Amino acid sequence: MAQVAFIGLGNMGGPMAANLVKAGHQVQVFDLAEPALVAAEEAGCRRADNPLGAVKGADFVITMLPADKHVQNVYFGEQGIAKSLAKTTLAIDCSTISSDTAVDVGAQLSKLGIRFIDAPVSGGVAGAKAGTLTFICGGSDGDVEHAGHVLNDMGKNVFRAGDIGAGQIAKICNNMLLSVLMAGTAEALQLGQANGLDPKVLSEIMLQSSGRNWTLEVYNPCPGVMDNVPSSNDYQGGFLVDLMSKDLGLAQKTALASGATTPMGSLTHNLYQSWSQMGHGREDFSSIFKLLQPKK
Ligand code: NAD
Repeated sequence: MAQVAFIGLGNMGGPMAANLVKAGHQVQVFDLAEPALVAAEEAGCRRADNPLGAVKGADFVITMLPADKHVQNVYFGEQGIAKSLAKTTLAIDCSTISSDTAVDVGAQLSKLGIRFIDAPVSGGVAGAKAGTLTFICGGSDGDVEHAGHVLNDMGKNVFRAGDIGAGQIAKICNNMLLSVLMAGTAEALQLGQANGLDPKVLSEIMLQSSGRNWTLEVYNPCPGVMDNVPSSNDYQGGFLVDLMSKDLGLAQKTALASGATTPMGSLTHNLYQSWSQMGHGREDFSSIFKLLQPKK
């Protein structure tokens, strides 16, 4: 079993760290939010007073933070951990950030003799809790294989997309597609409802028809169709609109830089940005259902 430092204990990081404890690892944690630290302690993690305390003696460092600036700050900011890591440590960033930042973090750590992979995840909060996440990694074959010692205790699939940064590219491709599926599913359900259909019945019909997709299978955006999904919990406790908006911004930036044509991604980026600006940034991303309500 390994000694693991885990930094960033939010909706995703909290349950991921708890699963590492269940698997028998020694997990030292840090987060800026006191409630997150209390919950992690209850799950059997050891809390540290700062990031440097968490990484002391760690074989693996895992970061699960909101966006680029938080990752850069944790590694290289005033209390940055980079200079305190042992040469034997493997640093694994599971946040969804830009590929360029992942490459830059990897290069800076490499100068210090520290190995790094990007390993963003898919599977949502439910997958984090159940330990069934998919890890989409960028890094050397050897480093990704080594990361499997801890990633396999939090997920069921570990993919290597390519070198450092490639995991982030694959991740934003997936999330851009997810946003299109979510907006499209919400739109279809609103159309059916506006024409007198029961959304439960319509969902079942589309699930068994050619419109079948992940959102209908496990994440229906219409309240009351499914239990235990954010839409049936006032759109709380899932994947924030602001985070989806961030990922779609990354996808558009990447498309622009590479000359890829992504009109659907551009449209969902606009939808999610507007929804956030209308005050829904802290709701789950399936709340886009409400934006598509028919005009009375
Ligand atoms: P979250 O906002 O719930 O959690 C982020 C945590 O990071 C918070 O607890 C915050 O206090 C902590 N934090 C921020 N800055 C910090 C710092 N400098 N030091 C220590 N802790 C700090 O976010 P989340 O939903 O857990 O998502 C984390 C990452 O995973 C994001 O990049 C997101 O895009 C990605 N992701 C989320 C989901 C999902 O369904 N929520 C799914 C896949 C990927």
